Amino acid sequence: FDEGSGAVLPTIYERTTGAAIAAGAMNLGQGFPDAEGPQWLRQAAADAVADEATGPNQQYPPGIGLPVFREAVAEHQRRHYGLQLDPASQVLFTTGATEGIAAIILAFAEADSEVLTFEPWYDSYGAIVALAGAQLTSLPLSAPDFRPDVDALIGQISEKTSMILLNTPHNPTGTVFTPAEMQKVIDAARAHGVVVMCDEVYEHLLFDGAEHTPILTLPGADEVAVAVSSVGKSFSLTGWKVGWVTGSPELVNRVRGVKQFLTFSSAPAYQWATAQGLVDDRGFFAEHRAQLTSTRDLLIEGLQSVGLTTSNPQAGYFVLADISPISDLPADEFCRRLNNEVGVAAIPVSSLTKQNEASAELDRLVRFAFCKHRSTVETALERLQADL
Ligand code: PMP
Ligand code: GLN
Repeated sequence: FDEGSGAVLPTIYERTTGAAIAAGAMNLGQGFPDAEGPQWLRQAAADAVADEATGPNQQYPPGIGLPVFREAVAEHQRRHYGLQLDPASQVLFTTGATEGIAAIILAFAEADSEVLTFEPWYDSYGAIVALAGAQLTSLPLSAPDFRPDVDALIGQISEKTSMILLNTPHNPTGTVFTPAEMQKVIDAARAHGVVVMCDEVYEHLLFDGAEHTPILTLPGADEVAVAVSSVGKSFSLTGWKVGWVTGSPELVNRVRGVKQFLTFSSAPAYQWATAQGLVDDRGFFAEHRAQLTSTRDLLIEGLQSVGLTTSNPQAGYFVLADISPISDLPADEFCRRLNNEVGVAAIPVSSLTKQNEASAELDRLVRFAFCKHRSTVETALERLQADL
């Protein structure tokens, strides 16, 4: 909300893209790729719509998702992580990870309870916790390495705590949580009867040999944790909004109870096509990681060349830059000027926090996306070099 007028504002991502279009700026703001996902996968979706003999029919799919989709998620989890999931009871289709996150939080965060997380965070966490009538408490991930202080998080658990929200690999810091960090959270959650959501949408976007630990691979996790992921980041198909929630039959069933009254079901053709990709990515994941590593390195070098201090993310779509060496402006004002006067759109990290309580350190940070064509990043850097 806009506090002054009470009007509902679009999300920070949409506002940034809108301002970028209006100013003709290079959009390193909203995290969506410039390049479309693999042609063969898009063709599979087209066939699933057009060819009755091949794909699913175009009517409501089952609320929990097409069987072929749920089997493909289970197969993907088995092949990549050695996880054994029953596709009938442990995999739930959701309309993007966003619906999964909403259904999970609404299922487990009781009104007036407290939900713990790290900040900065993905914006829907705060919004849905508020919709649930719960209170979000967040602990900052601090520069330069943005490691989570898991002991501090656990120290915050009280009688009122209903949930912990984790995100690994993390948006926007690129932090990949270690198994030991995650195990501590699981153990504490079990001891206190707290449910853990783990958002794993960046699971395939890893660099420099970093390894993702799916929460459900850790001992005891199935008692307390549900994971959520989606096709958007893994296959550069963010508009498809095909997501999935996994966990024990009991916890997944609770999430299903909410999800069935959010959208009930959606996107049979995209579910069907996503199933093809999850079973065999045809080398896309490796190719994509290599491309992202190269645009990440280009962006880091360019941002440093104009005097910014940057993060060195192990995963994801984003580099964080500290503007202190070149500007005293608050990051949101810096981003406004960057967009309008330099022609580069980026996102102030303060907009991914509890706003008023953003720590001074986070307010010095700006998020730049590198999931873009090399030429987009090059033009953005030329503009920064010329006009910053
Ligand atoms: N979680 C995180 C951490 C994200 O960055 C995003 C944005 N893609 C989402 C969830 C939402 O995923 P989806 O587009 O599948 O709804
Ligand atoms: N996940 C994307 C980001 O972090 C944006 C998603 C959205 O626009 N809702 O930029």
